[in-house]
Amino acid sequence: MILVVGGAGYIGSHLVEELVKTSEVIVLDNLSTGHEKAVDPQAIFVKGDLGNERDLKAVFNNYPIKAVMHFAAYSLVGESVTDPLKYYENNVAATLKLLKVMLKYNVKNFIFSSTAATYGIPNVEIINEDSRTQPINPYGQSKLMVENILADFAAAYDLHYVVLRYFNAAGASGSGRIGEMHDPETHLIPIILQHLLGQREQISVFGDDYDTPDGTCIRDYIHVTDLANAHIAALDSLLNAQNKTATYNLGNGQGYSVKEVIDTCEKVTGRKANIIIADRRSGDPARLVASSEKIRQALGWKAERDLEKIIDSAWKWHQSVQ
Ligand code: UDP
Repeated sequence: MILVVGGAGYIGSHLVEELVKTSEVIVLDNLSTGHEKAVDPQAIFVKGDLGNERDLKAVFNNYPIKAVMHFAAYSLVGESVTDPLKYYENNVAATLKLLKVMLKYNVKNFIFSSTAATYGIPNVEIINEDSRTQPINPYGQSKLMVENILADFAAAYDLHYVVLRYFNAAGASGSGRIGEMHDPETHLIPIILQHLLGQREQISVFGDDYDTPDGTCIRDYIHVTDLANAHIAALDSLLNAQNKTATYNLGNGQGYSVKEVIDTCEKVTGRKANIIIADRRSGDPARLVASSEKIRQALGWKAERDLEKIIDSAWKWHQSVQ
């Protein structure tokens, strides 16, 4: 049985929907940002906290867990700057509790959701896993801290793990059952689509004076189902002992500017956006584009869905929940 902590959140719930096709799954989530109805009905759902040893022990005592996938983190860069305590407490201290209980129950396979924010402002065009890690906000710091903890635990306690550094997850499941639903919403693609549905007046482009061809920030968008499949490949690599420890980027390998994303949303939806140019958002690097060559070579995984497919899936979902 696989324990998915944070399996009611956006990325976690998409992973669970894929994972239940091949494995027994139990989800632990405190529903602070997730939605119980997003959890696939084939999974067992337990409401609880990863920072609460009692909640964790209840799960480990009652179910034969052979691996843990950890999605239960706060992930807003701006909030991490104004409230770092929240980020270090949940993303680092609570994760330590989870690892401690795992070791106590001799569960030694761990998949960890990390982030492109561990790289900070990259000094290369295309980021690979050996690129410099120098986070510029507490969110990125909190993820890098856990990565370092995992390396120490692997050496000391024989923990086996895969770290997956996500670039910009977006899109919605092909099932039409789940999609991206944050409150408040801060992410570019849902904001554009909500605007095109008449739920927002306009789109603010955060800066058009970056050192990029059209002046707006470039990001690497990856479909959430592609992300989910990468987790399953990573899990298999631990369970079949192909990997003991590994760190992989997860991206499309293609960068799109904010303006290009807006253009693609207009094309997919056939609607016209109302845009204003706003100030830069603090903590935004000009360009974040991943090389995902390492995981392709090691596990044969690559992103299958391009930006248009990402937006098309998100658009279908946003229309359905409007
Ligand atoms: N962005 C924007 N307007 C918005 C939301 C986001 O211009 O209303 C930009 C943001 O500055 C960044 C890119 O879109 O350059 C992607 O931002 P998002 O918050 O989706 O993801 P992040 O890259 O922060 O993980």
